[in-house]
Amino acid sequence: MSTPAPGLNEVLQRTFAFPKPHFLSVTDLNEVEVANLLDLAESFVALNRQTSKKLDLLAGRTLMNLFFENSTRTQSSFELAGKRLGADVVNMSPRSSSIAKGETLIDTAVTLNAMQPDLLVVRHASSGAASLLSQKVTCSVVNAGDGQHEHPTQALLDALSMRRACGRIAGLKVAICGDIAHSRVARSNIAMLQMLGAEVRLVGPPTLMPSQVDRWNVAVHHDMRKGIAGCDVVMMLRLQLERMDGVMAPSQREYFRFWGLDREKLAHAAPNVKVMHPGPMNRGVEIDSDVADDLTVSLIQDQVEMGVAARMAVLATLAARLDNER
Ligand code: ASP
Repeated sequence: MSTPAPGLNEVLQRTFAFPKPHFLSVTDLNEVEVANLLDLAESFVALNRQTSKKLDLLAGRTLMNLFFENSTRTQSSFELAGKRLGADVVNMSPRSSSIAKGETLIDTAVTLNAMQPDLLVVRHASSGAASLLSQKVTCSVVNAGDGQHEHPTQALLDALSMRRACGRIAGLKVAICGDIAHSRVARSNIAMLQMLGAEVRLVGPPTLMPSQVDRWNVAVHHDMRKGIAGCDVVMMLRLQLERMDGVMAPSQREYFRFWGLDREKLAHAAPNVKVMHPGPMNRGVEIDSDVADDLTVSLIQDQVEMGVAARMAVLATLAARLDNER
């Protein structure tokens, strides 16, 4: 690159080799590694706000986005992240409805691997899919959401948004609310927030709490007002109807009445509370537009912005690891 983009030095100083060949789970990282990734992501935030955003850390590398489930934010932010770091990016969206899952996943992985990608970003409806795929390919695999298991880059971007808004993560009281049972976002966030020293509470109807919740070392509330009382962050989750097998929630109107976040319920949280939602939102179901669109409390747009920076940090460090292996 002829003229280095402003901020490049900072990025280069902070870039380190990712600790594992793949990023499949929050448990692939320890507290120090998360802090280092967040610091690196901070420099990408600054860079992404400049006119000249393009770096060549991934020049010559090929990134494949393989999304078996629909996505707006995650897929486009991985695409942007890859392009801003100079990679060639290919997007593939196989229709999950027409494929026999396990066999096709492996066939697809082997086929794609033959095209020599360096990084494969995968989203699939089955828990464990990214891990399975990582055993069949020679490139680095990033889990962009596997069933209701994990969504580690979401947890990273959420931690970045929280740290920027609240100045810290340790000691924060965070309520994760709604459809916990079907949420990979909840699972990854619980693991990361606990690792970083936050106090996590889960709030929602008993039918939408996972059966293993008592093993997670979190307080569980079924009353929204009590559950979010005094919380610094309220993270709302989408009611994931596509993962529900039978009726697990009342009508959407009833759901909003008991567990939807509106001004009245939010008044029970801490005075400077911040509201988060990974998207896509069901307005009027789990969150009122009045709260979601109030930029004095809502971090929802910040989360989208942080998604690009956090994914750039993951891709840059995975590529640094590949460079070391040369
Ligand atoms: N976008 C997030 C996910 O892929 C949350 C959601 O879909 O509700 O898990």
